[in-house]
Amino acid sequence: MEINLISDTVTKPSNEMINYMINCEVGDDVFKEDPTVNKLEEKVAKMFNMEKALFFPSGTMTNQTAIKINTNPGDQLICSKTAHVYNYEGGGVSFNSGVSCKLIDKERGFFSAADVVKTINPPDFYHSPKTSLVCVENTTNKGGGACWELSELKKIKYVCEENNLKYHLDGARIWNAVVKKNQDFSEYGSLFDTISVCLSKGLGCPVGSLLLCSEEDFQEAIRIRKVFGGGMRQSGYLAACGIYALENNIQRLSDDHHRAKEIEKVLKGLEFITKVEEVETNIIIFEIHEKFSSENFINHLRKEAVKLIGMGDNKLRLVTHMDYTQNHHDHFLDLLRNISL
Ligand SMILES: *Cc1c(COP(=O)(O)O)cnc(C)c1O
Repeated sequence: MEINLISDTVTKPSNEMINYMINCEVGDDVFKEDPTVNKLEEKVAKMFNMEKALFFPSGTMTNQTAIKINTNPGDQLICSKTAHVYNYEGGGVSFNSGVSCKLIDKERGFFSAADVVKTINPPDFYHSPKTSLVCVENTTNKGGGACWELSELKKIKYVCEENNLKYHLDGARIWNAVVKKNQDFSEYGSLFDTISVCLSKGLGCPVGSLLLCSEEDFQEAIRIRKVFGGGMRQSGYLAACGIYALENNIQRLSDDHHRAKEIEKVLKGLEFITKVEEVETNIIIFEIHEKFSSENFINHLRKEAVKLIGMGDNKLRLVTHMDYTQNHHDHFLDLLRNISL
């Protein structure tokens, strides 16, 4: 039995999802004539209580479009040092929007409203770039699947309003945060100018992301999506998977969270593991004693058909997901308990 704990993107569509997919009605979405894409966009906009949603092929393109519509060339955005938009989108912030990032270096990908205030460049000081956007990530990916407090996100919103800044949420894993914290998606819709969400993370879809925004931003977003090459034709087949996932696969994320918590507990009992970051959702980040090395640990598990990845500095990451079943889980915990390096 192969166990893949590299990411929550490794899932394959279930038979039920594929059945739903092949029975959907499609059309040409570049003319906005795909009924299934339109249905998904309306559904997601309604969930978040935002005016519009637009379907994208990837989370990266969604974030990049949000950054493009919220900034002008030469501007600067504020984000965590660990942010996906800064670290893992190929430098798209500068390539696509001509924007630089001012980074906040705090634990777990979080920062406070006070940190944002300190990081804004004075608007009349024309020597510095103009600050125009704040980006937060929930859950934080490199921060180990940690969830923001809504109260802090609200405080940051006030700072944005007072300083004329736009406010973007990279919500690739917002599903996990909402389930964990027992929140409502509309609480996020009321805070942000733009939100990106990923269907291909955690929910078991093969492809797809959406941008949530105002009617006015939607008109600009659809243009930018075309410029980026993201206008798709009969993409209703992909959107159908999204509809299926939103209706069936959100609440079950608590199983992933529960299993991640159990893995955390077993890891904490292993003598060669020096630190396990507190697990809140489905991501487990831990450090291994340098004497044993992360390569050694990865290779050892690879021989047992378990896949995971290193993050450098003897840090490793495991991510639980839909296709990591209870059988996999029992077997993996056994392997861990009996591991000798
Ligand atoms: C995965 C991810 C994205 C987007 O990823 P794609 O692979 O382009 O869909 C964006 N933000 C975060 C935090 C992510 O984890």
